[in-house]
Amino acid sequence: MVLSLDSDEGLTDATYEDLENHISREILEKLRSLMQQQPPQQISWPVQIFNNGQFIRLTDKALVIHEDKVYKISFTPNSPDPNWEGYLTYNEISRLLTCLHSLAKPPTRYATVTEGIAYQQLYPTRQHCPTYASGKYQEEASKPSMVCGIILPIRFLEVDHQRPKSSGKNEAIMKVLRVLGLTLGRPHGAKCMQLHDCVAQALRLPEGKGIQISTFLKRYLWKENVRDAGEPLPGVIVPFVPVLAKDERPSPLWGSTTQDRYTLSVKGEIFYSVVRALAPPGYPLEAVAVHSLANLRPACGPCNKLRGKTSLKFP
Ligand SMILES: [Zn+2]
Repeated sequence: MVLSLDSDEGLTDATYEDLENHISREILEKLRSLMQQQPPQQISWPVQIFNNGQFIRLTDKALVIHEDKVYKISFTPNSPDPNWEGYLTYNEISRLLTCLHSLAKPPTRYATVTEGIAYQQLYPTRQHCPTYASGKYQEEASKPSMVCGIILPIRFLEVDHQRPKSSGKNEAIMKVLRVLGLTLGRPHGAKCMQLHDCVAQALRLPEGKGIQISTFLKRYLWKENVRDAGEPLPGVIVPFVPVLAKDERPSPLWGSTTQDRYTLSVKGEIFYSVVRALAPPGYPLEAVAVHSLANLRPACGPCNKLRGKTSLKFP
């Protein structure tokens, strides 16, 4: 398949449809064939790895390990630190891909993003009365701009890319990989902490039976009507708790350092390398990250337009 790329947005609607059906499958098929070669292979993957928000170094060779009938992929399987989890299994990679792609929406479908259940619960709509010069007084469905906090009828709100499309692609990738639990530091923003917990629950679903991970995420992230969301699953925390706008949000009292949040863990390095090395040519991970729920929020027009490099952690 040839990806149809748009220079600005990266992916068209059609190619987004293919993320799970085609791109995940292609990555996994290549990975499986690497893992099934005998003897186990050492693979050279020259992938630049994020550390402290920047590309710092190239990864070394990866190893395929076959242990207890489980195929694992590792960078340093003989690490002296016994607590150092230096590998990912085939199933973990498969599940992480589903999570990565389930969080993304095509750029031309922001209406779908804003109607999605997670977006509605994180940024709930309330009835408010704007004041008109004519003295008209009428309740309208409204939300706050998450940057300045002003409450506006939703027709005045835009979908803001928290890390901007132009200059924030790498930070957006780190933001999404953090939600997937693949950075040294956990998220500490109110939205991404909740998305992180949701993804963590999806990743813990028992394999091979019961609800599929993609069904789980579609239900809890995107199902448009709460009443149709089905019965809550055992142990599942829904709904999401609304996020406070920036002007009323206390600064986090605890949490990870910026450096740790923008540095990949060992599992993160392996997942990032697998995606970069095995995805079909032209697969824009940047677009998948920039247009991820983890990177989208409502903002008023002026806030959306004025933010640029000021919203970057590593400008
Ligand atoms: Zn604003």
